[in-house]
Amino acid sequence: MANKYKLDEFMADLEKKNPAQPEFIQAAKEVVESIIDVVNSTPKYLENKILDRIVEPERVVSFKVEWEDDKHEIQVNRGYRVQFNSAIGPYKGGLRFAKNLTLGTLKFLGFEQTFKNSLTTLPMGGGKGGADFDPVGKSNAEILRFCRSFMTELQKYIGPDTDVPAGDLGVGGREIGYMYGQYKRIRQENTGVLTGKGQTWGGSRIRPEATGFGAMYFTNEVLKLNRDSMKGKTMSVSGFGNVAWGTVQKATELGAKVIAISGPDGYVIDENGINTKEKFDYMLELRASNKNVVEPYAEKFGAKFVKGKKIWEVPVDIACTAALQNELNGDDAKTLLKNGVKYVMEISNMGCTPEAIAEFHKAKIPFGPGKAVNAGGVAVSGLEMSQNAEHLRWSANEVDEKLHEIMKSIFEACLREGKEKDGYINYVKGANIAGFRKVADAM
Ligand code: GLU
Repeated sequence: MANKYKLDEFMADLEKKNPAQPEFIQAAKEVVESIIDVVNSTPKYLENKILDRIVEPERVVSFKVEWEDDKHEIQVNRGYRVQFNSAIGPYKGGLRFAKNLTLGTLKFLGFEQTFKNSLTTLPMGGGKGGADFDPVGKSNAEILRFCRSFMTELQKYIGPDTDVPAGDLGVGGREIGYMYGQYKRIRQENTGVLTGKGQTWGGSRIRPEATGFGAMYFTNEVLKLNRDSMKGKTMSVSGFGNVAWGTVQKATELGAKVIAISGPDGYVIDENGINTKEKFDYMLELRASNKNVVEPYAEKFGAKFVKGKKIWEVPVDIACTAALQNELNGDDAKTLLKNGVKYVMEISNMGCTPEAIAEFHKAKIPFGPGKAVNAGGVAVSGLEMSQNAEHLRWSANEVDEKLHEIMKSIFEACLREGKEKDGYINYVKGANIAGFRKVADAM
């Protein structure tokens, strides 16, 4: 019989092997903590050394991206693709363009993606990629040139049945378009190698809204389980990008009142609610302006702007992270709890620090982890792959219904695997164990 794993020893080895990758270690620790008992009590997992194998990416590619800026100066960035795990399907996961992006960040994201994709019920492995390219303040022409150069290299490693990238922070419909065009030009094929494409050239209906819609379907299930309803609940959503946009719309439709959104510059409080088409559309306009500030929303709609402060000081019933990893820390969690928060949903990947999650668990309030709550985005990406493969396009209703079903099944998986002795649902543990089992069994 193979030796059982010891958490501390295993994590110490992993840290030694992956120096200076704190986010990857954080993500791995959260998962390993949740699944270690399952692994240790399952002989086939022990004999097959599953833990050692599941924390190692199958392949990491790093490449040079050279491009010319508007001043005709040469710029050099570093591009990556982390192909983490293909046990249950082709690598699938977004591309992130962000200043100072590191391989450690992409490894955490690729690792998370593996379990998230498994939870969606669809056959997709986990991957992630991107570049340390900062889109803020870049002209449209610069973005086009960067995307073309990036894809010229990336296209060697991807394919519709091999690895299917999509968007993430800094990569939206426009960037996907520029990259898809370049892929087509080089490979002479129209096989849907990227998801999140435009509606007229292979994109799935509901894909832009999917992450936010899915997050609110999941949240609604959590509230129903607690014999509660979204009606009349106040809500804050960090960020103001594509994910926040979908979230705010669906939250409004389900009867909640979103009163705050945020940006790197501070947060906006709109006591009337962010609840009209004009306001939703303006969020997209703000994002498209490429300036990465939320303040203009306050000017336009007569709302209050609080400069340089975190959105978590706003008292709300439901708090949602929809911006960045580790954006909500232990102190923020304490502030939210002191102000009476009832539910916290992570819509960004690893939006909360371990200290914050511990606070929510201690207070026994429902906390939804990113890999469950935000899985709707990649789920509809999976549906986009299916539509591309059969050269068909499904109706918005059909996609939305499937998304709804998938989110319900993720919620149920969390209940099944995450129920503790006192009846409290530990969604973190539930999502990790459920996501892990399928991948481990396939491996
Ligand atoms: N970047 C998104 C995520 O974190 C979507 C990935 C995709 O659609 O492939 O899940």
